[in-house]
Amino acid sequence: MSGIKDKVVIITGASSGIGEATAKELASRGAKVVLGARREDRLKMLKDEIEKNGGQAVYQVTDVTSRTEVEALAEYALNNYKRIDVLINNAGTMPQSPLFKKKVDEWDMMIDVNIKGLLYGIGSVLPTMREQKSGHIINLSSIAGHHVYAGGAVYSGTKHAVRAITEGLRQEEAANGSNIRTTNISPGAINTELTETITDTELKSAYDELYKGAIAPESIARIIAFAIEEPADVAVNEVIVRPTNQQ
Ligand code: NDP
Repeated sequence: MSGIKDKVVIITGASSGIGEATAKELASRGAKVVLGARREDRLKMLKDEIEKNGGQAVYQVTDVTSRTEVEALAEYALNNYKRIDVLINNAGTMPQSPLFKKKVDEWDMMIDVNIKGLLYGIGSVLPTMREQKSGHIINLSSIAGHHVYAGGAVYSGTKHAVRAITEGLRQEEAANGSNIRTTNISPGAINTELTETITDTELKSAYDELYKGAIAPESIARIIAFAIEEPADVAVNEVIVRPTNQQ
């Protein structure tokens, strides 16, 4: 299946920011979107809006730190639509802080959501995609997956891991001839709720300054749509998108 129309697309972290914008963009182009996140009120509002605009969407409350819930989300997509064409591993969190502040719970959360949640996503759709002999896994890394900034060691570590996992997956699936495309997207500052997860007040001020130049989440949604829209034998493997004036 080529293009976006009628593709079944699972989106984690669909309740705000990039995930929400992507759900709207893809649904407006005819995709059947399967929305996952923890905040049910947001997911329901999004589903209603998509349907009001003539699109198709279903949702299931999903905490990506639970392997069972992530697998249940993939099952839900299959039960509803009989196939899974695209998984967008978008759920993420960024409570950055210097290591010496020892915010161990926040380290754990970043590792659990940004790395383990993403792996659970991949594991939950790969058997179906291999059986279909087609699929597309899109992972959200970050500029922090290419560079390390003081205060961002753990977040950056998780986003480097996302790139490594995406590239490993690409090599494995290409060698298997399974027609599964991989795309790693590394955004710069995007205007979403992400910085609200920063509890360190000094870093939060620095990020508030940086994010004055942030661009809209719709900019990433368009890139994701572009990667999906390419013909099935073309894999857009790696994309970096920054605000034009971000240093
Ligand atoms: P938001 O904070 O707006 O969205 C994050 C999403 O992740 C929310 O929908 C949230 O939903 C979900 N989420 C968080 N924890 C969990 C969890 N345990 N289980 C399920 N869902 C979870 O930020 P963005 O839209 O910016 O973030 C999307 C992705 O983009 C992230 O991976 C982020 O790291 C990446 N990114 C963002 C950049 C930016 O500048 N904004 C830059 C580079 C990368 P809920 O709370 O309802 O569960």
